Amino acid sequence: MSNVYDLFAQGASHGGTFIQNADGEVRYTYKEFDALTAQYANFLSEQGVRAGDRVMVQVEKSAECLLVYFACLRSRCIYLPLNTAYKKDELAYFIENAEPSLILCDPKYSDQFRQLSNAPVFTMNSSGVLNYDVAHQGTEYSTRNCDDNDVAVIIYTSGTTGRPKGAMITHSNIGTNAQTLSNCWGWQTQDIMLHALPIYHVHGLFVATHLPVMNGSAITYLDRFDPQQIISLLPSSTVYMGVPTNYTRLLTQPELSKQSCANMRLFTSGSAPLLTHTFEDFKIRTGHTIVERYGMSETGMNTSNPLDGERKAGTVGIPLAGVDCRIVDSQGHSVEPDTTGSLQLKGPNVFKGYWRMPEKTAEDFSDDHYFQTGDLAQKDDDGYISIVGRSKDLIISGGLNIYPKEIENLLDNMDGVVESAVIGLPDPDFGEAVSAVIVSNGSTDLNASKVAAYIKEKVASFKATKHVFFVDELPRNAMGKVQKNILRDTFTARIEDSF
Ligand code: AMP
Repeated sequence: MSNVYDLFAQGASHGGTFIQNADGEVRYTYKEFDALTAQYANFLSEQGVRAGDRVMVQVEKSAECLLVYFACLRSRCIYLPLNTAYKKDELAYFIENAEPSLILCDPKYSDQFRQLSNAPVFTMNSSGVLNYDVAHQGTEYSTRNCDDNDVAVIIYTSGTTGRPKGAMITHSNIGTNAQTLSNCWGWQTQDIMLHALPIYHVHGLFVATHLPVMNGSAITYLDRFDPQQIISLLPSSTVYMGVPTNYTRLLTQPELSKQSCANMRLFTSGSAPLLTHTFEDFKIRTGHTIVERYGMSETGMNTSNPLDGERKAGTVGIPLAGVDCRIVDSQGHSVEPDTTGSLQLKGPNVFKGYWRMPEKTAEDFSDDHYFQTGDLAQKDDDGYISIVGRSKDLIISGGLNIYPKEIENLLDNMDGVVESAVIGLPDPDFGEAVSAVIVSNGSTDLNASKVAAYIKEKVASFKATKHVFFVDELPRNAMGKVQKNILRDTFTARIEDSF
C-alpha cells in the first residue's frame, strides 16, 4: 500500500463539504483539502521535520489540528497526539521517550514544553490559529511514498501499571481498517458525520474522521460533547459515534425522540462497554439500535455488530473482515462457546509494536504472532463476542477467578442501581475480596447489606461481595472507561483505615 493519505485524497476528490460548524457554516471544503494539507506539510518541511520524525501534538480540538494530522501522513512523519489532560511530569516522559522533532501545543503550555524539549515549539489555540502564517506556504506538495510498515501515528496507551507504551500504527493499519469499517457500516458519500469526540484517541481521530474523509462525506465538527447540541443537530446528520456515557447523557434529555432521530442512519458505540439497559432504552426512545463495536489503540477496530443482521445487546458483535479473533485458556487452547478466556487477535489492523520497547512488544504477542489484547471475552454459538473485562481487573479470591462483569451485570439489574463497578480489594484471608462500588438512583431502601444479600443469593459463595460502597459517580476517563485503578486505590485506603 502507498501512503494512506492517497486514500483520503481520493475521497476528498468528491469536492463537497469537508468540515462544517454547528450552525451549518462550511469551514473547509474537500476542494481545499489537498492545498491546505500541502501548506501544513510544507510548513513541517521548512521546520526540518523529516520522514520518520515525531510531531507531538497536545492542543484543543480544532479543524486545523486535523489538517496537521493529514499533513503529517502526507510527509511521512509520525503524528503523536496527546490527551490534553496530561501534566508536566507525564509530558516529560513522553518527550524523553518519543524525542519529537516538533511540538505543537496550546499557547498556555508553550513555556512548559520549551523547558522540557529543545525541539521547536509552535502553538495552536482552541480556534485552530497557529502562531505561524501557514497561508504563505505553497499549496503543492508531493506526497511521500511509503512502505506498508511505515509508522503513521504513535498513540500512547493509558497504561494503569508501568509507563505508557507508544503503540506504533502503520499507514497500512490505518488504510485497511478504514476500508473494512467503511464497508461494514455501509458508508455513503452523502452521510453526514456528527463529530463530538476528542481527536487524541483512535475513536475520534481514526474511526469518526477516516470514514467520512475517505468517502468525501461532510463532518459537523463540535469541540466537545453537549447533549442538547447533539440532539439539535441530529436532524441534519446521518451518523453519530459515541462512547457509552454519551448515550446515557443523551437519554437524560427529554428532547431525544424518534422524531429527532428520524434522519439518522447509524449510531455506534465503543471504547467502553455499553450497558444493556442503555442499549434497550435508546431503542425504545429513538427506534434506533446502537451498533456496538470493539477496538483498541493497538489494533484499531476488531469487531462490530452487523449493519444487516442481529445487533445483540451486551456483545461487541463479530470479527471484522480479515480480523482473526480467538479466545484461549491459560494454555493457549481455544475455549468452548460461552466460556471466558483471553482474547487474541491477528490481522492487517494489528499494530507494529511499542515504540522503543521491543521486550514489551514481544511479551504482548503469542509465539504464533497473535496480539494478546489483555481483554477477557466469550463467544456465543453465533460467534458474537462479549468483553468480560480486562485481565488485570480479574479478581482472584481464595485462588478462584471471579469476572467482575458477571457481578456487575447482576448489580445493574437490581432495583435502585444505576451502574456499578466490581473490584478486588486486598483481603488477609482470601488475597482479594469481591467489592462492589455502586451508583444508586437515591432509592432509600438500597443499602450495603441488601446488596450483599442479593448477590449472595444469586452466585456461588466465593463470588459474594465482601464490601459494598456507594458513590455519586464512577471515575471515568475522557473515553468513558471506568478507572478501576482509582477505585482500587481509594477503597483500599478506606478499608485499611477501618482496620
Ligand atoms: P484504548 O486503547 O484506550 O482504546 O482502550 C481499548 C480497550 O477499551 C479495550 O482493550 C477494551 O478493554 C475497551 N473497549 C473498547 N471498546 C469496548 C467495548 N465496546 N466494550 C467493552 N470494552 C471496550
